[in-house]
Parts: sequence; structure tokens; C-alpha cells
Amino acid sequence: MRRTAAALGLVFVAGACRPPVAGAEARVRAEAVTAAVPAPRVSEAANLPRLELRPSSVEPGGIAVVLLDDRAAQPARVTVHFRGTRINFFAGDDRRPRALVGIDLATPPGTYPLVVEVGHPARSAPSQRRAAAGRRGHDGRNGQPLRLTALLTVRAKEFPREDLAVDRRYVEPDARSLARIRREQTRLDAILAVASPRRLWRGAFLVPAEGPLGSPFGLRRFFNGEERSPHAGQDVRVPEGTPVVAAEDGRVVLAAPLYFSGNTVILDHGLGLFTLYFHLTAFRVREGAFVDRGVPIGRSGKTGRVTGPHLHWAARLSGARIDPLLLTRDRATEETAEEMNGSKGRY
Ligand SMILES: [Zn+2]
Repeated sequence: MRRTAAALGLVFVAGACRPPVAGAEARVRAEAVTAAVPAPRVSEAANLPRLELRPSSVEPGGIAVVLLDDRAAQPARVTVHFRGTRINFFAGDDRRPRALVGIDLATPPGTYPLVVEVGHPARSAPSQRRAAAGRRGHDGRNGQPLRLTALLTVRAKEFPREDLAVDRRYVEPDARSLARIRREQTRLDAILAVASPRRLWRGAFLVPAEGPLGSPFGLRRFFNGEERSPHAGQDVRVPEGTPVVAAEDGRVVLAAPLYFSGNTVILDHGLGLFTLYFHLTAFRVREGAFVDRGVPIGRSGKTGRVTGPHLHWAARLSGARIDPLLLTRDRATEETAEEMNGSKGRY
């Protein structure tokens, strides 16, 4: 396991996040030491839990795992804020509190703060907070929330271009179709905005159909010469009627025909992680059902905006469009799959 401090590139010093008290604010500025000198520069830092980011730089569509080096912290009381989204921590198989941060496909390159709060202010009564403000305690468990900051680098990535010829109605939908598209988008947004509190997935995800991989995640797409949304999933080249299985344990939150994606299944794996299955010819599941990893959920087809039969497989993490192959035990991404779960052994 490559876990040297230099490889992680991050050491964090925290500032206590406490209610403003005149003259008593002892905020320690967050500081990232990115060089090979990992020692914190503030002596107090030795007593503070540390944050680690794996990896510390990610491409659009990637996943960053935020780890809190404090097994005593209650994950339910730890959150991370990234680009306006609040993401809950959970306990990995190794009991270490962690959170998965999805980097949306359209995220501009740059350095972004990840602000972790240990101990929700809302959970401690104001009187406790006042008492805590007078103490030196700063571990987020004495009723005093702690704020830690990590810096995440999003690298620039040029995704290749793909040109496709499709039926005109998919490029220039009529007014009636536009109204349908908007209704469906609202429904999808509502489904994907709900992070169920329980982790349902258990380990690395399956590629949900057996066949060669087709168009990769992130392609810039031109339909009949006009640029449209980029390709936010991974295609699997399978003929019509191929079994499509659940990539991991989850709950069916959508099984319905949609304009662009055709017959669509969405599985909720908990904690804001979803997988999506497009262009199916038949459903094998109903909304509300819980499904196990590997169980058939439908058959592949060519419904919706397609040029031929295939499975389009996509994933969302707290709303971010991420590359679903990063969830699998694909060789190139094994490290991410392990860090996501906090274990090596499963599957
Ligand atoms: Zn696709």
C-alpha cells in the first residue's frame, strides 16, 4: 500500500469552528504542506485529527476519498463541503471515517478547498457550545465542532470528440417533447438529490453487462454536427436482449421509459451514490425493490437516443457525474475501489 506522506502530499492543520466570541477566536489557519516535509508547522497540530485525501489530485469525473485519521469520531457527525455540496462521512470496513467526493465531469481545473466539519454545531446545545468555547478542547467530541481543510487539485483533461448521427427529433425536439424532457429532468434531479443515510453497497462494483467496452466516459459529443452534453457514462457493446445486472446492492429508485435514455433503471446505493442503466428493452425490477449485486434488472436494448443497441452505464455521486468504471475493481483503478470501501478483500 503506497501510503507515505509524500505520496499523499497532504498534512493538515485545523482551525476550531466555534461560535464567534470577541477576542477569543484562536483560529489556526489551515495549511497544506505539499512538499516532502510532512511535519506540521504548528505544534498544536499534533493533537488534532488529520485529514487525508486519496488521491490528492483528480481528473473531472473522478472520485476523491477523504479520510479522517480519528477512529473515535462518529462518522454521522462528520461532513465535508465541496463546491456547495455537503457530503456525509461513513465508517469504512476498517472503521475509519471517510467520505467520497465526486468530481463532476464539467469541473474546471483548479485547486478547491474541502472543508470537513467534525461534530455538527446543530447537535450541541447553545449552552454546551458556550462552555466549550472556553476550553482548549478541539477534537469535535467535547461539544465543540472542529473544522479541517484539505486542498483538492482538479487536473485539466481534454476528452476526445465523438460524432454521431441520430434521428432529428433527438437533436431538435418539438415543443411537446421538450416539455416531456423538462419534466423528466426535474424528476431525475429530485431522485439524485436524495442521499439515503445508509450505505447499501458492500464492495467493488460489477460492470453490469458482459461485452466489450464501447464509448468511454467524458467524450465530447456532437449529434448531427451539433455539440450536446458530454458522454457522462460508459457504454458496453452488447446486442439487444443481453442480461443487465445490478452493479452492486441497492434500491430501485426508477424503472421507467425516458425520452433520451429510453427504458431506464436507477439504483440507489446509499450515501448519495447511484448507478444508472439506459436504453433497456425490458425491465426485470420494480421501483422500490432492493436488489443484490449481480441480480438481473433488465435486458439491453436500443430505446431512447441511440445509434444501435448497447448498454449505457452511468454513476452519480452527490450529484456529480463520475466515471462508473472507477467503482469497479478494474486494474487501473483498484486503489480507488479499495479506498472507497476501506477493505481489500471483498469480491
Ligand atoms: Zn452511452
